[in-house]
Amino acid sequence: LANPGVQGLQPYQPGKPVSEVARELGLEESAIVKLASNENPLGPSQRAVDAMARAVGDLARYPDGNGFALKAALSAKYGVAAECFTLGNGSNDVLELVARAYVAPGDEVIFSEHAFAVYPIVTLGVGGVPVVAPAQDWGHDLAAMAGRISDKTRVIFIANPNNPTGTWLKRDALQAFLDSVPEHIIVVLDEAYCEYVDEVEYPNGLLWLERYPNLVVTRTFSKLYGLAGLRIGYAVAGAAITNVLNRIRQPFNVNSVAMEAALAVLEDDAYLARSRQVNAEGLRQLEAGLSGLGLVWIPSIGNFITFDTGGNANGIFDRLLQRGVIVRPIAAYGMPSHLRVSVGTEAENQQFLDALSAVLKEIA
Ligand code: PMP
Repeated sequence: LANPGVQGLQPYQPGKPVSEVARELGLEESAIVKLASNENPLGPSQRAVDAMARAVGDLARYPDGNGFALKAALSAKYGVAAECFTLGNGSNDVLELVARAYVAPGDEVIFSEHAFAVYPIVTLGVGGVPVVAPAQDWGHDLAAMAGRISDKTRVIFIANPNNPTGTWLKRDALQAFLDSVPEHIIVVLDEAYCEYVDEVEYPNGLLWLERYPNLVVTRTFSKLYGLAGLRIGYAVAGAAITNVLNRIRQPFNVNSVAMEAALAVLEDDAYLARSRQVNAEGLRQLEAGLSGLGLVWIPSIGNFITFDTGGNANGIFDRLLQRGVIVRPIAAYGMPSHLRVSVGTEAENQQFLDALSAVLKEIA
């Protein structure tokens, strides 16, 4: 038998692959619109593609297990010492490192209702006990989270912005929360979507690292940076926590092609600016389109938006799929009547809105 925590888990359900949907529908892959996994719709940066091609020549060798060049570049870009970074095979990898390093069987881990699905996975995987605080207006309720702290709490996960709701926490509220958390409890501030955010009251967690030695900020190259398929992300924390994470990290957890691509895209300002702009415009387009269809959506500052179908989310998901449009059912996040759609290109967003409009007429 698997460990007790693992027995209660269901496998994470990723979005259906485009190739499979195309085969089932008898369509070309190019006819399928996948807006299911919060990816960058522009594809990877050309600079990253060129860097990957160069890196392939070195594949007989192990990667640099310390990620020296990438950490140096991140350090220079963000003004945080290189020894504060831990690279991961996606930021999911570093979320798991935190659980493995700090949560023992029976220890409690707090996160919010409707928060990112990987938090319960990494908690239960190490025998930890998930303590789920109720959400407020679909977002994190920090007072409710603080109220769940007990003698057994070891880690608190906060996603800012949160997936799948797109909700976010303001600087003052989050700082007051961090002030209230006892220092022996690790707070993970998951900033997977931070690079999309353009709000003056949105906090940059990196600026808090010196003030809170128990803070771990996680970020990823999967979203704005357009490298989801390569699996590369990182944690930033004080030297003490970073040292602990590095003790249990697999020696070569990040591959060399991913590190070279990440280095290249980190400096590709034109690509990053264009990605932000496409996302901001796409979000407006989806908001207007959904409202035009009479649907209620949750205001989002990420690269996705979640809307209320009024109850028939699975039916609508299936009918969209039949039309070659893949979105994300989020019943597993405790939101059975909502669907999440990622921001695509203008044309993809329009295809989604047209398909949704047709589906709503079909089932009316
Ligand atoms: N955190 C949040 C909130 C996310 O939505 C995601 C991606 N779905 C991740 C972390 C992990 O992304 P990755 O492992 O690709 O870095």
